[in-house]
Amino acid sequence: MSGDKAFIQVKDLKKYFNVGRKATLKAVDGVNFNIKKGETLGLVGESGCGKTTCGRTVMGLYEASGGEVLFDGTNVHKLKGKAKKDFTKRAQIIFQDPYASLNPRMTVSDIIAAGIDIHRLYSGRDRINRVYELLNIVGLNKEHADRFPHEFSGGQRQRIGIARALAMEPDFIVCDEPISALDVSIQAQVVNLLIKLQKELGLTYLFIAHDLSMVRHISDRVGVMYLGKMAEITKSTKLYENPLHPYTKALLSAIPVPEPTVSRGKKRIKLEGEVPSPINPKPGCRFASRCKYVKDICYRETPKLKEIEKDHYVACHLY
Ligand code: SF4
Repeated sequence: MSGDKAFIQVKDLKKYFNVGRKATLKAVDGVNFNIKKGETLGLVGESGCGKTTCGRTVMGLYEASGGEVLFDGTNVHKLKGKAKKDFTKRAQIIFQDPYASLNPRMTVSDIIAAGIDIHRLYSGRDRINRVYELLNIVGLNKEHADRFPHEFSGGQRQRIGIARALAMEPDFIVCDEPISALDVSIQAQVVNLLIKLQKELGLTYLFIAHDLSMVRHISDRVGVMYLGKMAEITKSTKLYENPLHPYTKALLSAIPVPEPTVSRGKKRIKLEGEVPSPINPKPGCRFASRCKYVKDICYRETPKLKEIEKDHYVACHLY
């Protein structure tokens, strides 16, 4: 799957949670994707589809239940000692709720410099100068360094979270719904900042979101997850112009269109049926209970992710 020069390779990744006697929650169940250096892969899907668990397992924050994640050729879940420490510097995460992820009792400078201190990257005057530099990079200024998180707006807090991630001089950042908690007017500012930083610093992103409209602006390719499985993955332009999986079509039809003339001609696909539980899921396609194209085979066989056209992968028995 677009394997040439992949920087991140996710192969048959599984993350299961035991949730009671003989009950297993299959949050991520055999997911495959690659990300090239300097690329952004958007990962989208409804709440509970496993995208956040996937991102955290890629980061090594969760042990994998199966499969592997290769970061620059090395298995993330087998790292030890110095190699593990290097990875925790090179791979960073930005969280959804900037307020919850910032310690309210720490000043902004100590929050941003926490990783710098652990990895002993700078000390003394160089340390505070580096904090000022990072504040400047994310559009804040040095007067903000001695303030506390509650003194900032949601958008500014997310900028602090980004500065904290950049402090480690990473190559790769998992952006875990970084704009979901922000006002719509602020979302574009944060996305534009991430795009600018990527260009300047050559960063690679896994950008997780449930909102397909904003993902389009930042992603080179987009993967759509449904109940722990990858339903479709392709270039961003292709996904929005020619979605093939019935679930992707429904998600895209729900995006509001600003122009009323376009909006009138656009038909919203309403998803019918129950969302199945990811606990002990039934065999077959996980989308079967909500799909209007469902066939007998869909209840029996789990569709495999297949390349339908160049760089366009779909898991559906219609193709
Ligand atoms: Fe619908 Fe069957 Fe395709 Fe699943 S495999 S999306 S149920 S047609």
